[in-house]
Amino acid sequence: MKIVDLHCDILSKLVENEYSLYNNPYHFDIKRALQVGQRVQFFSLFTYPDEADACMRQILLQTTRLLQAFREYPDYIYPLTRSEQLDDQANRDKLAAVMHLEGGEALGANLELIYLLYELGLRSLALTWNPPNLLAGGVDAPEETSGLTPLGRELINRMNRMGVILDLAHIAPRSFFDVLEFYDKPLMVTHSNAYHLCPHRRNLKDDQLKALAQNGGVIGFTQVSDFVKETSPVIPGDFIDHLVYVAELIGVESVALGSDFDGADKIVLPSVEAYADMPVLLESRGFSKKEIELILSGNALRVIHRLI
Ligand SMILES: [Zn+2]
Repeated sequence: MKIVDLHCDILSKLVENEYSLYNNPYHFDIKRALQVGQRVQFFSLFTYPDEADACMRQILLQTTRLLQAFREYPDYIYPLTRSEQLDDQANRDKLAAVMHLEGGEALGANLELIYLLYELGLRSLALTWNPPNLLAGGVDAPEETSGLTPLGRELINRMNRMGVILDLAHIAPRSFFDVLEFYDKPLMVTHSNAYHLCPHRRNLKDDQLKALAQNGGVIGFTQVSDFVKETSPVIPGDFIDHLVYVAELIGVESVALGSDFDGADKIVLPSVEAYADMPVLLESRGFSKKEIELILSGNALRVIHRLI
């Protein structure tokens, strides 16, 4: 079973201790990911919004941990910088790591720094976390700062030229639609769910989902309990409800996985090894073998192949 997951926050956990990316007590490690057949993981570089230099320092520390893992575990993990690497026989049993920046605060107004991060392996970027920044409005932005800024637009144009995936998780609806007005490649919303089933500000409303399908993009469904259901307990079936709802609304071609493992304490599937249950969970809700393959990996791979 091939699995692609679009969001994991383990790097920000690891910089606080000496645990390894290969084997640790958190939601995600390489060893367990490979055991369930995972082939691609987006690794988030994340720090709470702060002054640009402070953010960049944290980002670089997390990048260092990832680069160290590539050196220490070359038989198990490699940096995905061109999608053709996925077809290389030598990588067949390894985990491909996509380096992702969650929020552009570390760039400040120096957009050219994206070239440095690109050289280090960055291939995916989300403009914002929850608050507004120089690039766009996050979901917590007041109305007047909720749109895409000229600087944000310039960064997207640079990303377009370089081949960096654009992620609109965390972005305010106004910025979301500002981007879709001119962005003509498939985009990703790497870790969100359906607002219709769980009215959390981080989830996508139906009009956003429809626009995403029009764009040919994908949404990675997240395990964060607060984004799955308003009331406890939250069980795996509640998570699958989101996939069923969105597949019916906009088509199964937009449905993907974006766990947010190690990004929240309360999650539905307890950790990456529980992805082993996904095929049975999906099958029990009427998804065909082909559709399950699209959800677990095919849809996300389509966008990856198109962008990088
Ligand atoms: Zn996030």
